[in-house]
Amino acid sequence: TPTVGVLALQGDVREHIAALDEVGARGVLVRRPAELAAVDGIVIPGGESTTMSRLLELLELLDPLRAQLAQGLPAYGSCAGMILLASTVLDTRPDAHHLDALDITVRRNAFGRQVQSFETDLELSGIAGGPMRAVFIRAPWVEETGEGVEILARVPNGPAAGRVVAVRQGQVLATSFHPEVTGDRRVHRHFVEMITRSA
Ligand code: GLN
Repeated sequence: TPTVGVLALQGDVREHIAALDEVGARGVLVRRPAELAAVDGIVIPGGESTTMSRLLELLELLDPLRAQLAQGLPAYGSCAGMILLASTVLDTRPDAHHLDALDITVRRNAFGRQVQSFETDLELSGIAGGPMRAVFIRAPWVEETGEGVEILARVPNGPAAGRVVAVRQGQVLATSFHPEVTGDRRVHRHFVEMITRSA
């Protein structure tokens, strides 16, 4: 059973722990470097990326997390988590840190005022079982992807049709939306399988 940490500084931590437990992993809270050192994979939840960035620095987790990611620690980031994992972030605060684990450019709060929060059904490449309900809450989108980054999903329709909202590069997975708030566990199951295969 893989032990999967959820970065528990801020944001919707509990929902991810519950989702991980439901797919047979052991979800644990990560708030300090010693806890980070003990996990087989890490989930970075939604919340507020600039606040999480500040807390990562304050709690001396920023460098250890960067180092572990550089060494191949599997990671899944949802919404603010996607922003933190990115290599380039647009529309953020100049002093916000990110983790450079995913070769993407994301735009923070990218969906305009009218669609700041919305839901849609979308297909995720590599995840079977038909369309998934995707909940977007002041979400980022991916504007550019580097070589080796696989695009897993795009917004299917509406004003933001075609925008990239799920990606994977090696052991790092990210979604603009929040699968932890629906009952659908396929993204978490997929991530736990990524961890099991990499072990
Ligand atoms: N808008 C938030 C940010 O910039 C992300 C929102 C979310 O995680 N639901 O960090």
